[in-house]
Amino acid sequence: MALAWHLESRPEGEPTADNFALKPTELPPTGDGMVRVRNLWLSVDPYMRGRMNDVKSYIPPFQLGEPLEGGAIGAVVESNAPGLAPGDLVLHMAGWRDEAVLAARSLTKLPELGVEPQLFLGILGITGMTAYFGLLDAASAKDGDIVFVSAAAGAVGSAVVQIAKAKGMTVIGSAGGAEKCAYVGELGADRVVDYRAGPILKGLGAAAPDGIDVYFDNVGGDHLDAAFALARNNARFAICGMIGDYNSREPAQFRFIMRVIAARIRMQGFIVFDYQPRIGEFYAAMAPWLKSGAVQSRETVVDGLDAMPDAFLGLFSGANTGKILIRL
Ligand code: NDP
Repeated sequence: MALAWHLESRPEGEPTADNFALKPTELPPTGDGMVRVRNLWLSVDPYMRGRMNDVKSYIPPFQLGEPLEGGAIGAVVESNAPGLAPGDLVLHMAGWRDEAVLAARSLTKLPELGVEPQLFLGILGITGMTAYFGLLDAASAKDGDIVFVSAAAGAVGSAVVQIAKAKGMTVIGSAGGAEKCAYVGELGADRVVDYRAGPILKGLGAAAPDGIDVYFDNVGGDHLDAAFALARNNARFAICGMIGDYNSREPAQFRFIMRVIAARIRMQGFIVFDYQPRIGEFYAAMAPWLKSGAVQSRETVVDGLDAMPDAFLGLFSGANTGKILIRL
């Protein structure tokens, strides 16, 4: 019998452990075109908070009483599909569980790049692609730009810092607490703002006396407002995520939003899945950066399926540095 985390109830505001229940699930037979996969690494991501609400979005909501989904890496243990054999490592969306029977067409066999498999849930997966295309495509960031990135010690943010440095930009990162700020500095950020030590507007003003050309938004709220305030003419904002608002019941308020007009700010929201056809371009850029050490991947690893909801909830209190992963 496999075990899977189910959505037990929908949260109001901040999610809690009670919203999740670990239940045995019977696996179907491994029919024609199907494979049985034993999961090795599971991902928790902030976007899952949106899927806990019963609202229409770019991805359907989780269903009450059903197993949760998410990125996972597993090993094939039984195959009834051509091209997949026991031992093959695959990427798929049947996370939040230890084992699954899946249609072979819903799996991606990991490319042989000679790296640890879990990197395909992080720097060589959604995380890295979000940073790469968000910065270089959505924000059209270029050599010489002054870039501000929030949640800079997190998975996407830490990748943005390093890619921006590899591309010759000046980088200002924000993070919560002295330890995380030191890490952002180690990644190469030119200046770091600890938003827990004082208002982000004040911190960013001191860190960016000449203003910013690009804002890579992971947080929303007061961080986005500070970026409005400090934007130079023709600044470009990549709106990646707004984790500071995901659990909020209050509407966000912006004091400086009218700067969009005067500073001719271009704001571009984006969803990483739209860049899937350009994954080859991403690998071609990222693989050499990883090899040379220009981009490094840091992981916060949590062991065991039992710990998964806590790992997810930890994203909202900043428990992670770099990419958080569950190891089974
Ligand atoms: P992270 O690894 O960055 O983890 C979340 C971090 O956000 C925490 O560690 C914490 O860092 C910070 N944080 C949490 N709450 C707050 C708050 N109230 N104010 C300020 N900071 C906060 O997660 P990811 O890298 O996976 O995701 C980063 C962002 O990118 C998210 O907004 C996510 O939704 C978005 N995203 C968007 C995608 C897209 O296609 N558009 C794809 C993937 C991710 P600290 O301790 O520094 O506060």
